[in-house]
Amino acid sequence: MGKRILVTGGAGFLGSHLCNRLLEEGNDVICLDNLFTGNKDNIRHLLGNDYFEFIRHDVTEPIFLEVDQVYNLACPASPVHYQYNPIKTTKTSVLGAINMLGLAKRVKARILQASTSEVYGDPQVHPQPEDYRGCVNTMGIRSCYDEGKRVAETLFYDYHRMHKLEIKVMRIFNTYGPNMNPNDGRVVSNFIVQALNNEDITIYGDGSQTRSFCYVDDLIEGMVRLMNSRADFIGPVNIGNPGEFTIKQLAELVVNLTGSSSKLIYKPLPSDDPLQRKPVIEIAKKELDWEPTVPLEEGLKKTIEYFKTIVK
Ligand code: NAD
Ligand code: UDP
Repeated sequence: MGKRILVTGGAGFLGSHLCNRLLEEGNDVICLDNLFTGNKDNIRHLLGNDYFEFIRHDVTEPIFLEVDQVYNLACPASPVHYQYNPIKTTKTSVLGAINMLGLAKRVKARILQASTSEVYGDPQVHPQPEDYRGCVNTMGIRSCYDEGKRVAETLFYDYHRMHKLEIKVMRIFNTYGPNMNPNDGRVVSNFIVQALNNEDITIYGDGSQTRSFCYVDDLIEGMVRLMNSRADFIGPVNIGNPGEFTIKQLAELVVNLTGSSSKLIYKPLPSDDPLQRKPVIEIAKKELDWEPTVPLEEGLKKTIEYFKTIVK
């Protein structure tokens, strides 16, 4: 029998893939989203499905629903969008976590938090294992997101200790794929859109900073495995692809794969931009029998095909 599952942020990039996957598995899915960075186009094909329900709602306000599981993904994820109204970003992470944890407690649902590699800040330890406590600036322009996500994790652990709530904390590393918002300023979407339009590719800094990019299908597989793992495994667990690339390498790869005539140009590096990032995924391998299967080049090709359908 399928479960009743709430996905907050379900009209966003990751949330829309998760809704698809949960419906394919025969579940009843409620997608809750305020459509700040998400888009109805990501879920339009699901709107006629009897097992799917869309609720336009802001997670900073309480809501009463009866479900078996909650995936809490609601939060703008790209620096451009989370810095647009930083106070709202912190409220979304913190009040959103409180409201969803309250809901889960009331109906005894299991709840998963979409946390982030940003809890490690600009890491002084490389690669990053889950027991690294991070290096986050409380006063910087990324803090609204980083500290909001850190408090959300704290709330999850306190609800677990105080109320015996079944929690799962997942630390997501940079993920890319179809349904990314073309305007949200993240590096993969920016570079692909620029390359398809034969516009300059904007590298921030000298392009030597690194990121490790996970294809969305791999990420969703890890997320669903974590949610359904044994009750006493609560995380935190890193989910990401350990393949590490400089931003300049990514730009060159996108130009090659699109056959673009774009030139690489250099712009100032935003403050607190992490210099390096790569997950240690030993816990995911051991506890979830999970590891990524899609190499960057293959995932980029699929993502480029998607952007060709939406870029004018
Ligand atoms: P996204 O911006 O595409 O999706 C976020 C969704 O949340 C959007 O649909 C947005 O409209 C919705 N939302 C934002 N504020 C809301 C609010 N107050 N109430 C209700 N809905 C709200 O981003 P994404 O990449 O799909 O990220 C999903 C989650 O995963 C986020 O919590 C993000 O922090 C986390 N994450 C993503 C990545 C990544 O690389 N994609 C990395 C680390 C963590
Ligand atoms: N970046 C870049 N050009 C862009 C967008 C981003 O060089 O047009 C860089 C950004 O400075 C960062 C990296 O790419 O070093 C990843 O940025 P993104 O916003 O995708 O994610 P995050 O910094 O949160 O990992």
